[in-house]
Amino acid sequence: MLRDKIINAINEVGFDEYKEISSADIIFADAVFASCKANTCGNYGLNYACPPLSGDMDENKQRFLNYDHAIILNKIMFLGEYYEKMEDSMTEVFERLDELRQKLKDEPVMIAGPGGCNLCKECAAKTSEPCRFPEKKRYSMEGSGMDIVSMSRKLGMIYNAGDKKVGFFMMVLY
Ligand code: SF4
Repeated sequence: MLRDKIINAINEVGFDEYKEISSADIIFADAVFASCKANTCGNYGLNYACPPLSGDMDENKQRFLNYDHAIILNKIMFLGEYYEKMEDSMTEVFERLDELRQKLKDEPVMIAGPGGCNLCKECAAKTSEPCRFPEKKRYSMEGSGMDIVSMSRKLGMIYNAGDKKVGFFMMVLY
């Protein structure tokens, strides 16, 4: 059964928590796109998985609603006393996500993570070229307009773990 394969893969890779929801319960908010526009992460308009290139809100919602079920994953990372471990933490999160993608590569799932699509070293959007791998594009949770803070609160998941530890959220759709 597909769900069991996904849960096994999640457990094998190792995350701190996960919750199963219906994709209809994913929370999207226009305010997320508005904050993307401030471009604090540097991806706005420069990554095909991020706004405005990821499409409007309806397009983004539909992409997730094409699947019935969602599993939200969380990996809690220590960012360092002075946030000096931020980059290392991101790298570790992306490595786990890659491992999960690898384990589920033959399954009919969509996996979304934090940040923009990182499949290419530099997204083709930066040089206004077409996406190199449209079928393999890695969608972003925030870049798709998901309100992760509200969702984590509603689901009782840990967003801010205190002592410079935060949750990095990812999602498997099936
Ligand atoms: S596959 Fe490459 S070009 Fe396409 S969105 Fe991802 S990083 Fe950008």
